[in-house]
Amino acid sequence: MAKFYSSLNEIKSGLQSGKISVEGLVKNYLKQIKLNAHLNAFNEVFEQEALTRANNIDSRIELGIAGKLAGMVIAIKDNICYKGHKVSASSKILEGFTSIYSSTIVERLLAEDAIIIGRCNCDEFAMGAANETSYFGPVKNYADNTKVSGGSSGGSAVAVQANMCHAAIGTDTGGSVRQPASFCGLIGFKPTYGRISRHGIIAYASSFDQVGPITRSVEDAALLLEVMAGPDDYDSTLAQKTVSSFSKELKQPGKKNIAYLQESLSSPGVDTEVKNALIKYIDKLRADGHTVKPIAFDYLDYLVPAYYILAMAEASSNLARYDGVHYGYRSPAAIDLQSTYKRSRSEGFGKEVKRRIMLGTFVLSAGYYDAYYAKAQKARRLIREKTENILKEYDFILTPTAPEPAFAIGKEEKDPVVMYLSDIFTVQASLAGAPAISLPAGNNSKGLPLGLQLLAGQFEEQELLNFSKYFLEL
Ligand code: GLN
Repeated sequence: MAKFYSSLNEIKSGLQSGKISVEGLVKNYLKQIKLNAHLNAFNEVFEQEALTRANNIDSRIELGIAGKLAGMVIAIKDNICYKGHKVSASSKILEGFTSIYSSTIVERLLAEDAIIIGRCNCDEFAMGAANETSYFGPVKNYADNTKVSGGSSGGSAVAVQANMCHAAIGTDTGGSVRQPASFCGLIGFKPTYGRISRHGIIAYASSFDQVGPITRSVEDAALLLEVMAGPDDYDSTLAQKTVSSFSKELKQPGKKNIAYLQESLSSPGVDTEVKNALIKYIDKLRADGHTVKPIAFDYLDYLVPAYYILAMAEASSNLARYDGVHYGYRSPAAIDLQSTYKRSRSEGFGKEVKRRIMLGTFVLSAGYYDAYYAKAQKARRLIREKTENILKEYDFILTPTAPEPAFAIGKEEKDPVVMYLSDIFTVQASLAGAPAISLPAGNNSKGLPLGLQLLAGQFEEQELLNFSKYFLEL
């Protein structure tokens, strides 16, 4: 593999010394993309455009007028709108659809001279944890091609893992940035709900959806966060808080109080090598003077059900707009309005998406609403309060990111419940609207990457990033 750079700073010093050019970088990534086409990480590569922009940015660097992200070549998940480019959410139902405007995050990234090299494969409408629900087929893990990439931002993670770009942007509703990052040995960061604009992101579950970076360094995660975050007139759920220069303010953290979920170590559902990685870090943290204590989370068993009821309810409503009239695919067999709706949706959506729309409409329907949707809302509030209470006493909650490392392609696809349960550790932050990061924690005996997650209080991204940088140096 061509040399990869662990951070944009490293690239920038190469650019300054004239050893490399942005054009050269883009050419290398394009070469890697071709060499690794079998991984299925990209739905489309913006080859010519990336090269043209690279040239342009090289001149801007020479003139000293380049933006903060000059030299940063990124890929975006294919549920992020980029004006004039196709966007599919890896679904047949968006076949042929072109974005008519750019998402706020794309505008902000481009304004700082990032280069977008392509759009990445993902689970259909971001529904999944293995990238196996994509209409375009699964993404293969670069560490072992028989294993899944994780999901739903699987293509984004593998694109970085196999050095097909420097960093990638994914979305995380219940773990979709963190879990694939952990399966690919990378950093996956989900900020606080309300940090980054959702304008121009294809909605899955609007009260959970957050954009997040997948990177090789904490510095890059911090930099991408500061560029993308902050108020936006197009998203009223955004916090009005000012955004600090997260990357410049990275500093050594003091001694911390850390809680870890005791079930991470006691549950038979967690892989032994994952447990060992957690134990190793708990020991290292203690040896370095931090307090690390086990805690019980009373609502552990409610995390996955509450998340899935709410996410499916929101999804069923968000996906009502794909009706064969407004967007993309229309069934050629449609003869009137009813059959346009029915046939286009039946033929356009995949199995998992249909399952979720059905379950979502079920939990929202009269007679079941109180028993499921309203109850899940109450459970969410309790989960959030409990999480906030823990975070009054502790700075972070440490868990594995996923109960097991990347599994074999096809293994869990047949049983959706098994798949849903694998989100146990990531959905807590999503339900609580809290920031959480997945950090690489070595490989297992088969060479598969493992990841650990740190969860912090709302809007405590700076503390979380500071500690993450230190954690990786432990
Ligand atoms: N695996 C979870 C789901 O299928 C999370 C997906 C996501 O974060 N987009 O809903």
